[in-house]
Amino acid sequence: NRTPLIAGNWKMNLDHLQAIAFVQKLAWGLKDANHDFTAVEVAVFPPFTDLRSVQTLVSADKLPLAYGAQDVSAHDSGAYTGEISGAFLAQLECQYVIIGHSERRTLHREDDDQVQAKVQAALKHNLVPVICVGESADDLEKHGPSAVPVAQLRAALAGVDAAADIVVAYEPVWAIGSGKAATPEQAEQVAAQLRAVLADMLGQDVAAKTRILYGGSVKADNILGFMREPNVDGALVGGASLDLTEFANIVRFQK
Ligand code: 13P
Repeated sequence: NRTPLIAGNWKMNLDHLQAIAFVQKLAWGLKDANHDFTAVEVAVFPPFTDLRSVQTLVSADKLPLAYGAQDVSAHDSGAYTGEISGAFLAQLECQYVIIGHSERRTLHREDDDQVQAKVQAALKHNLVPVICVGESADDLEKHGPSAVPVAQLRAALAGVDAAADIVVAYEPVWAIGSGKAATPEQAEQVAAQLRAVLADMLGQDVAAKTRILYGGSVKADNILGFMREPNVDGALVGGASLDLTEFANIVRFQK
């Protein structure tokens, strides 16, 4: 009963002109292939500077695509040079926002407290947070597969109401951009632990309806294995989301 979600995290790729061309081709290509957007939801996460263009295109052409930002400020407004408020994202009709991506955690030293504050900011502005968790190769060796992602999710969910709409993404750091994806079994094992955290903190109903995505070197030729796992409800795709044909084939994993 959970609608699969295939999400493309563009990271710092594609400017606003490239975004318009890409989104248009993606939507029309999937429509031509008779993709059922209600059966498998498709979302893109372009850079901030593309979002206004994507909004204009999606609303003018009534494209069945969701979109969101790759980060959000924990603050609503004020003296925070370089930051983007959730209020601004909501005005651009973003449905989603990625929070706590490992690149933010590592390159920008975002800690669990900041991730938690950003989750609160997203929910305050009716954005669905895509909460990213994942362990490094070092963590994996020291603590096993689920200890770090479980602790990160617990921290991110502190103070979250059971009525909130959220998405969780499990992205092992060692699998991101490495071409070495986790196995479907590894992804399932951690996803099941993350669902147990949801049940424990927010209740069985929330755990049953919340989508848990896998991310890390997802390609058209390995997506089906992940989607067959009972606790994996979609993918957060980096590199392969920038290739139209490849991304469309990931979306059409059932074909
Ligand atoms: P890759 O698909 O390029 O491994 O990136 C995964 C990711 O970080 C998505 O957020």
